[in-house]
Amino acid sequence: MSDVIIGADLGGTKIRSALFDVRGHLLARKSLPTLASRGPDVVLGRIVACLREMVAAAQGQAILGIGLGAPGPLNPWTGVISTPPNLPGWHDVPLRDLLAQEFHLPVYVGNDANLAALGEHRFGVGKGVDDLIYITISTGIGGGIISGGRLFLGADGAAGEVGHQTIDINGRRDRCGNVGCLEVLAAGPAIARQANEAIARGEATAIATLAQAENRPISAEHVHRAARQGDRLARQILAHAGENIGVGVVNLLHLFNPRLVIIGGGVANAGELLLEPIRRTVQERAMEVFRRNVRIVPAALGDDAGLYGAVALVLSELGR
Ligand SMILES: [Zn+2]
Repeated sequence: MSDVIIGADLGGTKIRSALFDVRGHLLARKSLPTLASRGPDVVLGRIVACLREMVAAAQGQAILGIGLGAPGPLNPWTGVISTPPNLPGWHDVPLRDLLAQEFHLPVYVGNDANLAALGEHRFGVGKGVDDLIYITISTGIGGGIISGGRLFLGADGAAGEVGHQTIDINGRRDRCGNVGCLEVLAAGPAIARQANEAIARGEATAIATLAQAENRPISAEHVHRAARQGDRLARQILAHAGENIGVGVVNLLHLFNPRLVIIGGGVANAGELLLEPIRRTVQERAMEVFRRNVRIVPAALGDDAGLYGAVALVLSELGR
């Protein structure tokens, strides 16, 4: 018998939970649709069900705690979730305390992208690197900053919103209220939007054909696939996204001086098509001392980074 930890990830479409040993080996897992549109009570019930399966899977081994990643904004010290855009009806839900009462276990809650940074730092490509920045690029752009081996939280626990730094002061308005955010320039929906705009202008591309074959609207994934096949427009769009991300990375290098920048999230599946323009932009724009020893690499833990990060959070809260 050994000690175990439960990690969980509350997303807008899926709730996932997993059971780990203290060295980060995954022992069991469970996933349920979130059913976010049915409101907080239904979602809470499903989180509890998902966690209960892992308690059962522990088969009486001592559970040290539960770590949970959730969409921000949230308070990482109180575990209260404010009003996440992808969880309708949620307003100041005391998620940590509700789960602690239900399971009689220590519960720790963190922003999902922050936890993914912790996961890559403890168990992934950032192992042994105490100054790193993790950036996730999917429907939005989020991140986490590890400085001196610790997660950088800021005064309100909200630090690391790398996707909401302004890249274009004359850019379009983001749903966050700011203008020209990295997210409106380079996240998945921005990539799809740029493809649609180019097609509407009459540019030749295979992107539309790929989407039509699946009877789905154009997504960043179609752009990525067309780029793999050598499609010129698709490559231009990804290069443009990579350049904008690169400018964001340059800002982060100058502010935080990390040794490692980890690029994750679904859009990052484009691999070198995205990483090459990011690295090139960093070489062109960053001051020498900041770019000399920094590596820019793909994430190692994929979709599971947040689950591993939830375990890392429990371990660090327990001083292990
Ligand atoms: Zn924004």
